[in-house]
Amino acid sequence: MSGKWEEYVRRVKPYVPGEQPVVTDNLIKLNTNENPYPPAPGVQKVLQNMDAEKLRLYPNPDAKALVKELSSFYGIDEDRIFTGVGSDDVLGMCFLTFFNSDKPVLFADITYSFYDVWAELFNIPYEKKMLDDNFRLVKEDYLTDNGGIVIANPNAPTGEYVDIDFIEDIVKNNQDSIVIVDEAYIDFGAKSAVGLIDKYENVIIVQTFSKSRSMAGMRIGYCFGSKKVIDALKAVKFSYNSYTMSMATIETGVEALKDRKYFEEITAKIIATRERTKKELKRLGFSFPDSMTNFIFATHNKVPAKEIMSMLRENEIFVRYFNAPRIDNYLRITIGTDEQMDKLISVLDAYLS
Ligand SMILES: *Cc1c(COP(=O)(O)O)cnc(C)c1O
Repeated sequence: MSGKWEEYVRRVKPYVPGEQPVVTDNLIKLNTNENPYPPAPGVQKVLQNMDAEKLRLYPNPDAKALVKELSSFYGIDEDRIFTGVGSDDVLGMCFLTFFNSDKPVLFADITYSFYDVWAELFNIPYEKKMLDDNFRLVKEDYLTDNGGIVIANPNAPTGEYVDIDFIEDIVKNNQDSIVIVDEAYIDFGAKSAVGLIDKYENVIIVQTFSKSRSMAGMRIGYCFGSKKVIDALKAVKFSYNSYTMSMATIETGVEALKDRKYFEEITAKIIATRERTKKELKRLGFSFPDSMTNFIFATHNKVPAKEIMSMLRENEIFVRYFNAPRIDNYLRITIGTDEQMDKLISVLDAYLS
């Protein structure tokens, strides 16, 4: 017996995350922008000392301890902070909460590929605006009537960063819609636009523990905004799933925030490795937008990206390749440890010379 239920299924084309191969000792994984260093040492201790007995109880629905620690780390009031299961959850909630008009939401044609997935899922009209030939945002494209704006800054997968004045112009000239700034990579040397939340009610700054805090596996994201914006987000969240942050998530998140020194150390290390890798890649005939992130989006002057990707894979080095218009001759290479990048460079050197 087969009924008609299939006619009523919500059809979606899901986001395709980077591959998570079984990690072996030799594998060098530079394909999903994870941090090569472990989380702050205190995180391990929290997990070791965790008392399973208390898991009987629900966690705090507002993730209060984590919000409090974020508040003191960033100097922003607790009622202007919202947390979620990775920034994907926070971004998805933002789409659901704020993009509820008939006008199109605007974002770049080359950017985080989850934005159009959420727009499709929630039936939000959207329009992609072409980055220019150097993969730069064109400001004028975002000064037209719209139902919202999303900007990844620095952008992924290009690595390009626009300064705060650029973001402010867009926020200031769009006060009838919400502007989301996705700062997943902001800690690798760029400057956050978070100060704008004191001047404008319509801007939301989204960040994550997944990259700079080495905790992709724990799933912690958060955003800052005006109290009104945060209240609106909470209302939608509490209409969907109250207990998004587990006890382990909250406690390890707090611990990671407490160790500012470790955080600054590992981000500085990654920045130094990135700058060194840029020089090596240039020497080997690669070019790339100037990255302010923990990855480099590179194209080679002779050898096709796809071919390089396959060659690297045979050498147990995974990088990300997007078979998409305008970027199908590029590789997105995550910055790993110095040793990992040395291996990458020597394999590339042997193949390309
Ligand atoms: C990695 C990433 C995210 C999501 O990260 P979470 O692990 O869900 O916090 C969001 N936006 C961009 C641009 C990213 O690269």
